Amino acid sequence: MKKPLRVLFLASEADPIVKIGGLGDVAGSLPLALRQVSDTIDVRLAIPFYGQINQREYSIEKLCTYTIPYQKGKVTAEAYTLVLDGLTVYLIGGDLFPSDAPIYTTDHYADGLKFAFFSMAALELARQQHWAPHIVHANDWHTSLAIYSLSLKRKVDAFYHRTATVLGLHNLPYMGSGMGRALSAFMLPKARDSALPWWAQDMPLPLGLLSADHIVTVSPTYAQEILTPEFGVGLQSFLRSRASDISGILNGLDIESWNPRTDQALVQNFSQQNLKERGANKAALQSEFGLEQTSRAPLFAMVSRLDRQKGVDLVPEAFRQLMITPTNMDQSWQAIILGTGDPDLERSILGLQKEFPRRVRSVIRFDAALSRRIYAGADILLIPSRYEPCGLTQMIAMRYGCVPVARATGGLKDTVVDFTQSADSVGFLFDDASPGALAETLGRALQVYQDQTSWQNLQQRGMERDFSWTRSARQYLELYSDLVSRRSKR
Ligand code: ADP
Repeated sequence: MKKPLRVLFLASEADPIVKIGGLGDVAGSLPLALRQVSDTIDVRLAIPFYGQINQREYSIEKLCTYTIPYQKGKVTAEAYTLVLDGLTVYLIGGDLFPSDAPIYTTDHYADGLKFAFFSMAALELARQQHWAPHIVHANDWHTSLAIYSLSLKRKVDAFYHRTATVLGLHNLPYMGSGMGRALSAFMLPKARDSALPWWAQDMPLPLGLLSADHIVTVSPTYAQEILTPEFGVGLQSFLRSRASDISGILNGLDIESWNPRTDQALVQNFSQQNLKERGANKAALQSEFGLEQTSRAPLFAMVSRLDRQKGVDLVPEAFRQLMITPTNMDQSWQAIILGTGDPDLERSILGLQKEFPRRVRSVIRFDAALSRRIYAGADILLIPSRYEPCGLTQMIAMRYGCVPVARATGGLKDTVVDFTQSADSVGFLFDDASPGALAETLGRALQVYQDQTSWQNLQQRGMERDFSWTRSARQYLELYSDLVSRRSKR
């Protein structure tokens, strides 16, 4: 039998144990998908032991207590373990990880210290278990210091000498600022004389980007975009110097959870083969929100964090422009916007419902079941993001027969093929982050909507797309093998 490939996967959250955002989806799905595509991988996931984890749901066992160097002495770490669908998960807590603290806070130093502690404790845990990983795969700023620390120690540390490192990049602007003191507490030097700009030399994410053997962004287009001033957040020149070690692998989607055939939240389940059944979901949404019940009126929707990143601020003016654009089509569109976030944007989205009382409904809350009913009932999902490392909503929408109108950026560009571009089209794309470009593209979509045969073809093609994690997991496996063979030659 082939020797197992040992991968230590580090993240600050993992679904379903603890999830705040997209990183949790990836850390919850990718390790399991890796096990499905390879019988010789021994992947183990490590996450912090937060007080919020529902301990009654899992069978958690204490593994060991150990110490790691801290300031001029030592600090205690405690490791626990649970098994999730066959996957070994380590939960690490200890003196520097207050179990009652929120998962993420606005206190940069406190967060920095706890995630630095977690990163260092995770590396030491592998040693305690006599389990030397071939790959350490860390994610985002929270666990970047594991990679930086490993790059310093593996030169002289036989245990980690052969370990290669991968840094998963889900969102470049979040770098972990204000952490200089946390670095020195763990005896990690600033990266002086490096290619990093001075302001980034004591920040976890840039240090990870500096020292990782390979950097993976969550879509191929985002891997290119971060090399430019528009998306590089000041690190573009540095990142260009590492361009040959950066690639993108598109995230997958949990296609069992997101399945219109079986989704319990829907009024009517449906599939590609009986797309007509989908109509009942639209009628139910219109009735739920007091919109005119007509199948002819195209129903727009948005399911999003209300954040400037998501281009939410473009929507009000785009709707206004859509009202005055002279077209020969029926303009009886309707819209439902579901989201929470920035208070100013929440106000502006609520204002839209007042401005267009017969057309627009604004729902300011987080509501997973409603989001499912929206994907299943709306005709068009608006995703006008300014930047989008990968994006899940366009994939969910396509799987549910809802056609995306998206800005051509990041993962949106990699997954949505525009109507004008060939027989593979599944939606509509626009380039400028402006209300005018969004309005024009919505207008294009409305025109195609009038021809129901073309529209159904778009829906069918979207529903046929393979968004499973299997495809992504195979690409990660290839990357790991390549890195391991390169590292073994050192
Ligand atoms: P990001 O992680 O940047 O917020 P993604 O597109 O990757 O964006 O993922 C967003 C996820 O959160 C999707 O599953 C989407 O359905 C969900 N979501 C966003 N806002 C809401 C909301 N208000 N209610 C329910 N689900 C939401």
